[in-house]
Amino acid sequence: MTIGIIGAMDDEVNLYLQELKNKQPANHAEFQFFSGQLNNKEVIIVKSGAGKVNAAACTQILIDKFKISQAIFTGVAGALNPELEIGDIVISKDSIQHDVDSTALGFEKGQILFSNLKIFKAEEKLADLAYKISTKLGLKTIKGRILTGDQFITDKEKSKSLFKEFQGECVDMESAALAHVCTLNKIPHLIIRSISDKADHSATIDFKEFCKKAAKNSFTIVKELVKNIVQEEKTQDLEYIKSKIRTIPNFPKQGIMFRDITTLFKDKEGLQKVIEVFYNRYKYKKIDVVAGIESRGFIIGGALAEKLGCGFVPIRKKGKLPAETISQTYDLEYGTDTVEIHKDSIKPESKVLLIDDLIATGGTALASTQLIEKLGGKIIEIGFIIDLPDLKGKEKITKWPVFTMVEFKGE
Ligand code: AMP
Repeated sequence: MTIGIIGAMDDEVNLYLQELKNKQPANHAEFQFFSGQLNNKEVIIVKSGAGKVNAAACTQILIDKFKISQAIFTGVAGALNPELEIGDIVISKDSIQHDVDSTALGFEKGQILFSNLKIFKAEEKLADLAYKISTKLGLKTIKGRILTGDQFITDKEKSKSLFKEFQGECVDMESAALAHVCTLNKIPHLIIRSISDKADHSATIDFKEFCKKAAKNSFTIVKELVKNIVQEEKTQDLEYIKSKIRTIPNFPKQGIMFRDITTLFKDKEGLQKVIEVFYNRYKYKKIDVVAGIESRGFIIGGALAEKLGCGFVPIRKKGKLPAETISQTYDLEYGTDTVEIHKDSIKPESKVLLIDDLIATGGTALASTQLIEKLGGKIIEIGFIIDLPDLKGKEKITKWPVFTMVEFKGE
């Protein structure tokens, strides 16, 4: 899930570029795109240039070449609503191309010829979120309609008539074109505009200085927005993962609530999400080897190792590994057991990620860490899908960082 961020101003794009991690440039048409991570989210930053065609071309490239899942467009606009002042923010509820006129053929003003397209709706959730963030920053913010046309509006009468005819809060030369392309491709979008003039030439401002300030405001809003999107996506993914885990009471013994992840793994999206969550967490950790604990740790560990581009080492129950092993005995939630690892599986000093499906009492994981450390491996983290917090397993392995996705309380 990548967010396309189109900034209209150089100042703004520069702010993104300063904060973008693992920045990669790419040129398509006349545009320069930068991919990377902002607040841990994959984003593409680009400056579209002015006008509807530029905005449309740039948006289509973002969709086709960079596979964006949503688009955010920021820039400056002229106020149509007399209550808006320079520096105020307009968050798009929707947008219309005010210069589209096929009324001679019986279509409404703004309606795209031979179609029902006229009002391009922005993603409501994103708009609500951006509105909240912007007002929290102390910026006067309006959520409303943005008008777009390939005309720079400076005439007072024209401004008045646009406001009256379309109920647009502000006017620019790109927004509705981006919204149009996003609508055609079923990609959610949002537009954030800072008011730079009253669209009637009444205000005199230091435009360069203003742009710097506006760019900073938009950047702060978008950065915060991205952070919130990441948080929300994470919550949704984890809720999804948890919903796909089946509980089997009294298996394999009376009183045990067995958390069955086969229902999660047989679900394409569930399996993808689990691997994705782990992958995003470890992709920059330079892991040398993933060690997976028998048997469900093999499924996740194997897929994850392949994605991370590293090797996989199995930690198995006693007597299963064919070559020379070392072993460790431990207490389980239901009985005792012994785990083994091949003596030649982990090189000293290599960075090891230990993976299993579930932590209960923590006995299996602790025994596995002992095996890895005996071989000289450095444990970077221990990752599980499920935590059973009431069994306090995490307290047993405090020596290393532990990551769990979901928890089941009470048993
Ligand atoms: P423990 O050593 O107590 O942390 O147990 C963890 C190991 O036992 C993991 O490999 C789990 O797959 C398995 N396990 C323990 N308790 C459960 C449970 N309630 N449901 C599913 N698997 C469990």
